[in-house]
Amino acid sequence: SAKENGRGVARVFEAHMGMEREARRLLEQDLKQALAGSEFELHYQPLVALEDERIIGVEALVRWRHPSRGLVPPNDFIPLAEETGLILPIGEWVLRTACRQGMQWPGLTVAVNLSPVQFKHRDLVAMVGEILEETGLRPERLELEITEGVLMHDGAAARDTLTRLKALGVRIAMDDFGTGYSSLGYLNSFPFDKIKIDKSFISDLSAEKSNAIVRSVIGLGQSLDMVTIAEGVETAEQASFLRREGCQQVQGYHFGRPVPVAQLTELVATVVRPSAPAAA
Ligand code: C2E
Ligand code: MG
Ligand code: MG
Ligand code: MG
Repeated sequence: SAKENGRGVARVFEAHMGMEREARRLLEQDLKQALAGSEFELHYQPLVALEDERIIGVEALVRWRHPSRGLVPPNDFIPLAEETGLILPIGEWVLRTACRQGMQWPGLTVAVNLSPVQFKHRDLVAMVGEILEETGLRPERLELEITEGVLMHDGAAARDTLTRLKALGVRIAMDDFGTGYSSLGYLNSFPFDKIKIDKSFISDLSAEKSNAIVRSVIGLGQSLDMVTIAEGVETAEQASFLRREGCQQVQGYHFGRPVPVAQLTELVATVVRPSAPAAA
């Protein structure tokens, strides 16, 4: 009967939920172990000035070197880390490690992603200040990336946090711009230094609509005096479109994939030359 069918569906559903719960519990346990056992590592992707194609900075991207699963990408564990609060110690490790490793690449900006959970935590600003002091990284070299979502819930609290972060001297970038819900008006009323155009618009540049969106975001950045950077640039064609439209910076496989720290150090040594002193 329909009633029995309903029960059957419910039973299957419950079993499924149970499995999911179990899988999540195991992953959570695994994540705790990963923290204790230092299984996280940072890879770094170059941020490139379009004008002369020089590396001006790096974005730190966390990976989990799992003993049996290999290198696990952030999208596979950050969401659960956020739900369980484990993102707080993981995020602190990321920030400290990125600032410390960033000291090896003088002059480069070090961009670090902040989870909305971290952003809303009341100890965030003090933690950032302490890590800057501890590592010696000059604050203006640190760029914190946040997504539009953090502005939605409590605009006043977000503005307060951003203002206090800015007072430390760090820079703030709006990540994945265009994928959230925020109106353009948001950009104007928060102290962002940079807009990162989401890679979905870049991969879709051949379409008239994405083309127009990217063009207008670059224009917006210019009029609000914010740096614009495009992420996910994979082809020379995309790069030349962006250059033509006045986008200042790019990031993407065309210019360099995220690489482990040793490889980045090599890359920086060969590609970024400090400007030579003028001959007397
Ligand atoms: P995101 O901050 O927008 O970082 C850019 C993502 O795009 C990275 O993926 C990067 O590897 C990828 N990417 C860069 N260039 C290209 C390209 O040309 N083509 C394509 N298809 N992809 C490109 P990844 O490393 O897998 O990170 C995914 C997301 O995970 C990040 O997106 C960020 O939201 C989050 N994430 C990464 N590290 C951290 C972290 O330390 N803390 C937090 N809270 N989130 C992180
Ligand atoms: Mg980012
Ligand atoms: Mg991004
Ligand atoms: Mg993105």
